Amino acid sequence: MTSHRTAATAPLDGLEALDARARYDLECLNLPAANWVPETTGPDGEKVHDVVIMGGGMCGLVAAFAMLSGGMRNMRILDRNPEGYEGPWLTYARMETLRSPKILPGPALGTGSLTFHAWFEARFGSAEWGRLDKIPRPMWMDYLRWYRRVLNLPVENGIEITHVRPEGGLLRLDLSGAEETSILTRRLVMATGRDGTGRANIPGFVAGLPADAWAHSADEIDFAALSGKRVAVVGVVASAVDNAAELRHLIRRHSMPTINKMMGIGSYGVTHGFASLDDEWRCRCSRSPRPASWDGRSPISGSPARSWNSSPR
Ligand SMILES: Cc1cc2nc3c(=O)[nH]c(=O)nc-3n(C[C@H](O)[C@H](O)[C@H](O)COP(=O)(O)OP(=O)(O)OC[C@H]3O[C@@H](n4cnc5c(N)ncnc54)[C@H](O)[C@@H]3O)c2cc1C
Repeated sequence: MTSHRTAATAPLDGLEALDARARYDLECLNLPAANWVPETTGPDGEKVHDVVIMGGGMCGLVAAFAMLSGGMRNMRILDRNPEGYEGPWLTYARMETLRSPKILPGPALGTGSLTFHAWFEARFGSAEWGRLDKIPRPMWMDYLRWYRRVLNLPVENGIEITHVRPEGGLLRLDLSGAEETSILTRRLVMATGRDGTGRANIPGFVAGLPADAWAHSADEIDFAALSGKRVAVVGVVASAVDNAAELRHLIRRHSMPTINKMMGIGSYGVTHGFASLDDEWRCRCSRSPRPASWDGRSPISGSPARSWNSSPR
């Protein structure tokens, strides 16, 4: 594709130029669309939102952009994390790079100037894009912050939805951290990421151990304090290895997983067809283990001191 570039279609130099192009692209698409949903109020005249999005991470932002594109402006996007720290990227994810290929259009929703590709080239140039292998993890958060800013998405940070209950055909959401203690909405989009799958799976045998003797991989961990200690990691897929540098892995499975079934997202067939798969197939893909990264920056490739203990079959 790069060979077709002319001066007029070359990547934009600098984020300001990209901002302008993205806004122009949206203007040409007549976005965000005008609100068309009639206003409704609750029984006592209380304001009713058409949509509340729970979570302002990557999917919450895309959902918000989709709502605005569809002319639904009576919406709120609430995230309990501080601004710029939504999702796992700068909180509990510890891998050096994303596993997803850099070419995925991601949250762009069909607008080229909103892609990571456009953002990266505007910041670092096409030669750097050619050299880039995988996306550095913190850089993905930088891109998401830009995406939110350029689309002017009204995410409200520091607000947690603590409870959801039906109320006369609507939903009442209890909030913590907001001016209101609760709000009403017609629809709720749960964009809570991995948090939405329930809770951390802590093996039963850990229950009796002192709290400072163990941590879940999603916890804040003071790695410096572990210096010189022997540390065991229970598990061997992505987060286990991302959290490890020099240690001993305890593995129930017979061998280390090496195939990431979700890597199919690089193919249009998968992204297009995934939603139409039946539940069983979706679960089979989604619940398959994410293998550890094998690139040169992964701790696993740099650590001769790693040892493996797998249980016999
Ligand atoms: C270690 C790790 C590595 C990953 N690597 C990749 C990768 O390479 N490529 C990839 O595509 N995906 C990767 N993922 C998956 C990644 O989590 C998702 O792709 C992406 O973050 C999903 O976005 P999301 O908006 O659904 O969830 P998240 O980004 O997790 O955002 C959810 C948000 O919801 C908020 N929230 C949760 N509950 C509430 C509540 N009750 N009230 C208010 N706010 C709430 C949270 O604060 C959070 O900000 C990885 C995940 C992990 C954990």
